[in-house]
This record gives sequence, C-alpha cells and structure tokens, in this order.
Amino acid sequence: MTRTTWFTLLTAAAVSACATPTPEQQVVNDASSALGGRDRILAVKMLVIEAEGSNGNLLQDMTPEAAGQAFIVSGYTRSIDMATGRARTEQTRTPNFAYFQGQAPQKQVLGIDGDVGYNVAANGNATRVSNTVAKDRRAEIHHHPLTVVRAALDPAARLTNPRTAGGERVVDITVPDGSTFTLAIDAATKLPTRVVSMTDNANLGDVAIETSFADYQDVGGLRLPARLTTKTDKYTTVSLRVTRQTVDGDAGSLAAPSAAASSAAITGPPPATVTVQEVAKGIWFLAGQSHHSVIVEFSDHLLLIEAPLNEMRTLAVIAKARELRPGKPLTQVVTSHHHADHTAGLRAAVAEGLTVITHKANAPFFEDAIRRAHTIAPDALARNPKPLRIETVDEERELKDSAMTVELYHVAGNPHADTLLMVYFPKERILVEADAFSPGAAVQPYAANLLENIRKRNLKVDRILPLHGTIAPFGDLVKTQAAK
Ligand SMILES: [Zn+2]
Ligand SMILES: [Zn+2]
Repeated sequence: MTRTTWFTLLTAAAVSACATPTPEQQVVNDASSALGGRDRILAVKMLVIEAEGSNGNLLQDMTPEAAGQAFIVSGYTRSIDMATGRARTEQTRTPNFAYFQGQAPQKQVLGIDGDVGYNVAANGNATRVSNTVAKDRRAEIHHHPLTVVRAALDPAARLTNPRTAGGERVVDITVPDGSTFTLAIDAATKLPTRVVSMTDNANLGDVAIETSFADYQDVGGLRLPARLTTKTDKYTTVSLRVTRQTVDGDAGSLAAPSAAASSAAITGPPPATVTVQEVAKGIWFLAGQSHHSVIVEFSDHLLLIEAPLNEMRTLAVIAKARELRPGKPLTQVVTSHHHADHTAGLRAAVAEGLTVITHKANAPFFEDAIRRAHTIAPDALARNPKPLRIETVDEERELKDSAMTVELYHVAGNPHADTLLMVYFPKERILVEADAFSPGAAVQPYAANLLENIRKRNLKVDRILPLHGTIAPFGDLVKTQAAK
C-alpha cells in the first residue's frame, strides 16, 4: 500500500464517519457552516454588540394586549464572554410615554456572571438580583446564533427532536445545566432564524421567550444577525438594530462587581409583611410592603381590593382578612387594573375561591391567565385548580347591602392604563385608587386625569387610600395640580 492510498483510505473512513450525522446533528452542522464553520465559531472569545432599538413595557402597557408603549434604547452595548459565560448589557432607555418615574433617560447596567446576576445603578452601586432573574439572564446568553450553536457543538449538549416546520428546520438543545433551547434554522440558507426557551412568569405561567434573527452580515469571518427581536409570549420586549459588532474586541472585565458577588443569593420574594389599619367601620387598609390592599365588610361577606405583588403577599392579605372577621367569608376581589405587579396574586385569589371583579377589558386576559399551565414553577392555582368566576365593570357598578355601599368607576382616559377602576365609598367619602396618584411620588403624570374623573363623577372625597404610599387627604391630590 502506498502512502497516498493509506492516506486516502484514512480520509475516506473519517468522511464516512461524518457523512451520516443524525438529523439533529445535521441541523447544528448546517447552522454552524452557515455561520462561518465550527472552528471559527469555537475560536471566538468575546462578542460585543452595539445597537439601538426599543424595549416593550411587558404587562404594564395601556391594555392587556399592549398599546405601543416603549422605552427607546440608545447606547446599547452587550458583551458576551464565550469561555466564561459572563455577559453584560449597558443601555440608556427613554420612555416614549408618561412614565411614573418621569420621562428622563435612564441608564441601565444588567449583568450575569455564573450564578450571580447583578444591576449597577446610575450612582455606581451594584446589587445582586434574584436567582430567578439570574436564571433568565443565563438563558438569554444563548439567545444568539453564535452562542446557541457553540453550545450545541459542545459534546456535552444533548440534541433531540429534529423536525421541519414552515420553511425551518428545528432542533432542541439541552445544555449541561439542564436548560433547553430550541434552535430553528432557515431550510434554504441554513442560517439560524430563532431561538426559543421556556421560563416561568407569575402572571402568564410557562412562557416562551423567543429571539428571532435577521439581516445577517459578515463580521470577522462569521455571519451574524444585525436585527434581533425578542418576545415573551406574544409581547415584544426587545427590538434591536445592530450598529456595530466586534469579535474578540476588548470588553473589559465582565466579572460581577464584588458588592454583588459577595451578597447572599436571593432565593425568593421577601416574607410578606401585612399591617392593618381600620380607616372606617368595615374598611381596613392593608399595607406593609410596596403594594397595598383594602378589605371591605358587607353584612354577610368580605370583599378584597387588589391581589398584588406575588402569591405570598396575596395569600397573606387573604389570611389577614379571614383573621379580622373569622365568621364572614371572603368571596370577592376587585382589581385596580391589569398591570402585572397589581395582579400577580390573582391566581392565588382564584385558588382561594374568590370571584374576580374587574374592568371588562381585562376579562379575556384574566380568563387566559387562569387557564394557563404553570408547570415550571407550580403556583397555588396549579396545585389547587379552580375555575375563574368573573364579573366585569364597564363605566360603573355599585356593590351594596344593608351594611356597606361601594361604587366602582372606570378611570376613563388615564394615560397609565385603559383598565383602571377606582373604588369609592360614598358614605365614608373615601377613594381607593392605584398608580393614578401615589402620595409622595416626585412625578405624578396620571393625577390630573384622576382628579378630572373624580370631579366629572361629582364624588365627594375626604381621604385617598392609595395602593402605593400612605393615606392622604384629598387636598394632596389637588395640590399636585396647583404646583404646576
Ligand atoms: Zn400600573
Ligand atoms: Zn403600581
């Protein structure tokens, strides 16, 4: 055998070993070739993406379907260290809507370094974020063609479920930490079109986070997308147009700042603290944390206003109501509006048997939220499924018996949300409202409209029970306008 023949046979053997990749390997191999080849991909140490674009206002927009509120993003730089799995995003975001923190640009630094997720505030102070947020940030690293294909090329990755759908070839990639990413590539160009991963959302349950890629360009021997769009469920959260991307440039250290790295891990929400203040006969203000609730006593039942923040807070508030009046069933919950932080306990309230009373524009959203699967982080309703009982309010509704009269009014035309209800007690001259007026806040972009609604309805208000902040005399709301 000549040397040449021996070499040829060896090459043939190697080729035949590679010539029959499994269908799932084939998807990864094709993606890898389209992006610049396995060796080029594995050689990358650092990717720096500069971009501009926008962030959506997830579950905090005008309607449950959203309505175009966005933070305009400038000065976006995302650095990803391929070897260490560290990543950091710096950006300035400017709300294009009346935001409760004002409309000044806000600088953000959001990082992940192994188990430690961190934010750096404008004053330079770094704080550790919860493990849940850190987990989502670790997943986000793989929401890019280069990182996800690189992960798929790792022999420790498990490739499963190859399929073809709608002009795409698709494969699931499970990385060593157990998380799974679905990679879709264009059947013709073989370039990655999307990455999808699943996460838990307190309001929406098991949700898909999907980043889609377009406008590929040549960068340092690679093909990289210049448009990246991320959605949580059906809501667009990030939309980026890349202005510059650099392979193996200097991004400085991506290590977590020591103040964050040395902080204890945050494994869950803080324990619920519920304070009780009786503000009138049969009306209790339940505060103690950032989001408050109100308990109302009718002759034969109790009503809860607001199931906010998280399941733990809402269950603590419900327990407190039952402790206040053990003999009376708590049967109903009124929601102030659809925003995620004000409704994160709604599923728990339904699990406790409460009927939901809400603005009619929220009904389809809540019906969907109650039906959704919560397998990633099972909640009270997932453990104890109950059907949703819902009653809706259009412009106004009265709840009345011999002991109590409560009037619910739509806060029409408020720039904070289209679904806002305020709750009025005509006899006690008390108004309960959320977000439209938060006593003590530096900026009150929604207060003028609240005042307008109160005057239009000719409501006689002495005191406001705000669902953020402390109880205030009506004059404090009036003063927000006088100061202008
Ligand atoms: Zn809100
Ligand atoms: Zn709020």
